[in-house]
Parts: sequence; structure tokens; C-alpha cells
Amino acid sequence: MPRLLCVCLLAVSVALRAAETPDPGKTYFGRKQYVEYIAGSLPFVLSAPHGGRDKPDELPDREKGTFAFDTNTQELARAIDDEFVARTGQHPHVVLCRVTRRKIDCNREIAEGAAGNPLTEQSWKDFQGFIQTAQKAVIAQYGKGFYIDLHGHGHADARLELGYAHDRQEFGLADTELAKPEFIKKGTLQFFALKNPAAYPALLHGPQSFGALMEKAGFPSTPSLGKPVPGEPYFNGGYNVRTHTAPGTGFAGLQIESHSKGVRDTDASRRKFATALVEQLATYLDAQMGLKLPLKPKAK
Ligand SMILES: [Zn+2]
Repeated sequence: MPRLLCVCLLAVSVALRAAETPDPGKTYFGRKQYVEYIAGSLPFVLSAPHGGRDKPDELPDREKGTFAFDTNTQELARAIDDEFVARTGQHPHVVLCRVTRRKIDCNREIAEGAAGNPLTEQSWKDFQGFIQTAQKAVIAQYGKGFYIDLHGHGHADARLELGYAHDRQEFGLADTELAKPEFIKKGTLQFFALKNPAAYPALLHGPQSFGALMEKAGFPSTPSLGKPVPGEPYFNGGYNVRTHTAPGTGFAGLQIESHSKGVRDTDASRRKFATALVEQLATYLDAQMGLKLPLKPKAK
């Protein structure tokens, strides 16, 4: 009688060494699963640094910094991943911090983000290292890529705040100022925007801007056609988006600070937002970077 072999799948954490190429669709973890990396095969890297819920005792609470929890942004990033898989059959690269911001800030320099604790520093490096691994994989496959760092804000104006590393008031400058290469170099779209400086003002708040596209899809945004100059308060882009779109990365990108209601408050909201984001990002990347996301028609 043939003996049945029972193969038990163990939930083991998979380590990824820096030199290794990640396997698309596979999930990798940093130390103690505090940081998670879903490897992909699309030219898009998404990270969520402030949606962590875990509170491991071994990592001390930080004394100084900002501790606001970006509620449900981890879940929102996972919904975006699911939508990409549904529409393309492929994953983007997704990097998630699973530990509370009280203990680690993966969108600050290491000194503030890990507050000098060696174990926290290891997880901070895991997070940043996975983004770099993802970017290298994208560059090897496509030669260029796009990055979004995903957050949540609690500002009164319920609107997506898109951060390009420009100060709020700068969006009100004359187009001739916005189109200067010195100005473009301060921003997170410089990788492709420098090729056509005259188009930069429109890229920030014209009809083809990411904000205008999301607005058309039902998500008020700024800067955009509807609100070309952000109000106050406004988040203009932090450590991650600046670092991972710097010259030499081959990446452009932006930071999304999302409001809660209708975007990340419920499973239905997250799915609706994910649907719009994937659709609009495909349009944007094709038009601005010549990157084609292989979207299948929407299932009815
Ligand atoms: Zn945040």
C-alpha cells in the first residue's frame, strides 16, 4: 500500500540576503518578522512605514519624535497589492513595517527612527534594505521604476496630500519658476521631469498630474487641478520618498498622505481606493515614464 506523505508547511520566516534576487510573489521577513517584504515583478515599489500594530516588549518605546499611528495603512497597502494581483496577475514590491511607531519610525533617519537601540536599528535597516532590494530588482527588470510611500493624516481637509518634497507655498510660484531645473531637482519626480522641464508645472497640478487623475477617479487631492496649492497643514514628503527617489536610484515617486473616510476606514473603502489607484497609476506611468502596467480589463 502506498504510503501517503504528509507535507507540512511551516510558517517560517524567510531571510533574504542583500546579494540575492527576490523571488516574485514570495514574502520575506526581517528580524522577528517586524518588517515584511512581498517581492513583486511590476515596476512599482510601495511602502507603509506607519501602519504597524505589533508592540514587542524587547523594543523600547522611543522618548522623542512623532508617534501618530497611520491607522489601517498597512491594510490599505495590502489591498493595493491584492488589486494589482487581480488586475495584472503580478505583485508590486511591498514593504511594510509591522511594529508600532511608538517603538520605531521607518520614515526618519536612523538616529530618530531607532533612538539608538541596536535591535530597533536592525529592523530600521531591514525596512530600508528591503526597499533597496526591491528597487534593484525593478531596475534590473525595467531600467527604471516608481515609488510611493503610503501614510495617513488626520487633517480636517479630507483630501489626499501628495508629497513631492516641495514646500506648500512653492506650488504657488509662477510656472516659469516651477519649470527651472534647479527647482525640479529639489523634487521627487526629477528622474523623468528633468527631461522636459517645461512640462513640470503641469505634472504637479495640471490635468495629467497624479492629483488630477486621482481627483477624476473620485478622491480629492492636492496639489491637483482642483486644489493646485495645498492648504495648511500639508505633509510635503518625508525621509523615504526623498531618499528612494534621489539621483542614481533610477526612481521617481511621491508620498501619499491619505485621509481616513472613504479611503482606509473600512475594507470596502480600501478596495475602492485600491481600484482607483491602480487604474490611475497605470495611466500616469504609461504617460510620464513609458512604463506599461499589464492591466487586464476590469471584472464586471
Ligand atoms: Zn505617516
